[in-house]
Amino acid sequence: MTTYNGKGVYGAVAIGHISVYKRQSAEVTRVEVADKALELKRVEDAKAKAIEQLQEIYDKALKDVGEENAAIFEVHMMMLDDEDYNDSITNIIETESVNAEYAVSVTAKNFAEMFAGMDDSYFQARAADIKDISNRLIACLSDGGGAQETSDEKVIICADDLAPSETVSLDKEKVLAFVTAFGSSNSHTAILARNMNIPAIIGVGEEFLKAVNDGDFAIVDGFTGEVFVDPDEEKLAKLTKKMEDDIAKKKLLQDLKGKENVTIDGTKIKIYANIGSVDNIGAVIANDAGGVGLFRSEFLYLENDDYPTEEQQFEAYKKVLESLPGKQVVIRTLDIGADKQVDYFDLDKEENPAMGIRAIRICLTRQDIFKTQLRALYRASVYGNLGIMFPMITSVSEVKKVMEICDSVRADLRVEDIPFSENVEHGIMIETPAAAVISDLLAPMVDFFSVGTNDLTQYTLACDRQNPKIEPFVDTHHEAILRLIKMAADNAHKHGAWIGICGELGADTSLTETFLRMGIDELSVSPTFVLKVRDQVRKIDLSK
Ligand code: PEP
Ligand code: MG
Repeated sequence: MTTYNGKGVYGAVAIGHISVYKRQSAEVTRVEVADKALELKRVEDAKAKAIEQLQEIYDKALKDVGEENAAIFEVHMMMLDDEDYNDSITNIIETESVNAEYAVSVTAKNFAEMFAGMDDSYFQARAADIKDISNRLIACLSDGGGAQETSDEKVIICADDLAPSETVSLDKEKVLAFVTAFGSSNSHTAILARNMNIPAIIGVGEEFLKAVNDGDFAIVDGFTGEVFVDPDEEKLAKLTKKMEDDIAKKKLLQDLKGKENVTIDGTKIKIYANIGSVDNIGAVIANDAGGVGLFRSEFLYLENDDYPTEEQQFEAYKKVLESLPGKQVVIRTLDIGADKQVDYFDLDKEENPAMGIRAIRICLTRQDIFKTQLRALYRASVYGNLGIMFPMITSVSEVKKVMEICDSVRADLRVEDIPFSENVEHGIMIETPAAAVISDLLAPMVDFFSVGTNDLTQYTLACDRQNPKIEPFVDTHHEAILRLIKMAADNAHKHGAWIGICGELGADTSLTETFLRMGIDELSVSPTFVLKVRDQVRKIDLSK
């Protein structure tokens, strides 16, 4: 048995035979040509053919992995039309009087090196895209470029670095796993593998590719990033069990779709999802979340080069509400500052940004920005069941001011005859110890609390959430945090408000029973954790 280590990009186990990916691309040689115009025409024809193929791959990807992931093939079509890329090919043909294949391959090498040398890992990953489109172009020049044949048996595909189009072109039904010698977890191949739910390991190194052959028996453990070639009996038995357990667990979670979040003794809890963008709605629906407990609206600001307009925000909020009919959607007003800096806000540099001008503090000092967001929110409220939530609250006077501003925005809308819902719920985040301690005073002012355990932990334990070195000091189950949550829950209920948890701790299933016993009404977690938490809730018996 030989073990190779890489990085697992999709957690699952596959056991089977290896198929080494063979490219059709022939060796490119430099040939001097007399007819340069003919070579330029060949490039144009090959480009047209490559774009036709990419359109077919795009259509297949759209079906297999969805619009968001298929988009890369639109990018590839655009890259093929890129002026600099095409100028480079033309220049090489014209100045060196060489064949089109050679001009494309030199251009590919130069552009890929340029991307690979960039600091940003996103751009580094684009080197693979350049190689991909160029290989396709070269294949089209020699009349090829189709997908590779796979055997009838399901196999573990091993390659140096699969291009996105190669990944998608493979028949999904015949692929057990992907293992690549190179590649990054940011690459589209990794992203596509995750979306196709196929175990994948990247970066196992060149040695691996040199050592393996078609038909070798292997185990791919996408959880640990290990590949075992020719495994011994013991390893095979252990990993077979791991694979079966994983399949059973994933199936169980699928079986939980449509089921209630109810304990054995009949206590119910709402399980909602946290999102950061309109694009995440698909995941909310796919994972059967009861609603959205936290829409981090600041991403609308982070994605833009300038303040998003009222209209842009209105469209985004309306889309989320309309896409989730009947479901509650809690949108948090902008939480800019601290780790989420936006240049155009022109905020002063601060020694301690986590304790600086952030979130509600910006809204109260820059009310124009706040009012624009509130107008967009209220206008969107007629399209669904909206909750508005305010971050980083520390005092009664802040909530009072916030509510006054909300009143004035609604009054303006009334004057302008613009409709909004009268049933919008207003809530605050409990993410500072101060808010938890005075939750008896805050609860009568709002409809709900949502505990932001990420910041509550940072401020309670005085542990910067951005500093990895401090992790050994962070006890997420610290009694102080649990007591603050319990205090807020008791005070919320005393005053008729509901309380949820939207920080990461909400998905910690070792605390689900504790939260239920506190009377927490809602847990809002990443979409992919919804069914895991549901599974846990359904195993709990509070009568014991
Ligand atoms: C939190 O602080 O727990 C929270 C949900 O907000 P964010 O992580 O966006 O700061
Ligand atoms: Mg927070």
